[in-house]
Amino acid sequence: MSGFRILVGCKRVIDYAVKVRVKPDKTGVVTEGVKHSMNPFDEIAVEEAVRMKEKKLASEIVAVSCGPQQCQETLRTALAMGVDRAIHVLTEPKEYESLQPLHVSKILSKIATEEKVDVVILGKQAIDDDCNQTGQMTAALLDWPQAAFASKVEKSNGDLTVTREIDGGLETIKVKVPAVLTADLRLNEPRYATLPNIMKAKKKPLVTKKPSDYGVDTSPRQEVLSVEDPPVRQAGQKVESVEELMGKLKDAGLV
Ligand code: AMP
Repeated sequence: MSGFRILVGCKRVIDYAVKVRVKPDKTGVVTEGVKHSMNPFDEIAVEEAVRMKEKKLASEIVAVSCGPQQCQETLRTALAMGVDRAIHVLTEPKEYESLQPLHVSKILSKIATEEKVDVVILGKQAIDDDCNQTGQMTAALLDWPQAAFASKVEKSNGDLTVTREIDGGLETIKVKVPAVLTADLRLNEPRYATLPNIMKAKKKPLVTKKPSDYGVDTSPRQEVLSVEDPPVRQAGQKVESVEELMGKLKDAGLV
């Protein structure tokens, strides 16, 4: 059997190092003029796919990003990391604000079928909406097995053996392909794209599609009522001794 055909999801999100600001009207967060990057868990998904190709376990890797025009930069990064081809599913910026995991899952499942992929690798969650839904929904729509929160992936006789991070420790499962995996933090350390690879990536194929090309209606299924900043942390107090600390804790009824 030749290597797997792999589909990876690459969401463009506000960079993890940016201090996010809520819009004054509380309908969302400020995105204009803010640095964006590939969702960190998607970098891990891309890295895993590229390593599988390097080990000759994969034959082709296709990356998908659904969102506004700038998603092409995210896809170019994936191409520079070693992805072969990219599909940009273009949505208007306003449409992107209300694009939900179910919409993305429908698009990804259509592409997975069209492209005859064996493995879909997504991030375990997007750091902007923290939904942790797309991998699971994509697996359900395709009716494929899923291995979410993967921290190790190995090929064994055409199947995949996946170690998963669970509350009590690690769980190792075997899944038949085709399957959907989602990448957890410890799966690998993604590489940086080198300058020569960034240059080469400019020539790799990138096609633009629309959600309607996949028969997906992106009207929102839910309405955001309000987005709030997290509560501001209260200032602490300094104490001179353990006795004083214990006294204060007792006064506050904490010990
Ligand atoms: P979520 O369910 O929103 O937390 O996202 C989980 C994963 O689904 C992400 O890490 C991506 O791999 C994939 N995903 C979600 N939204 C998009 C998108 N707009 N474009 C491409 N992949 C996406």
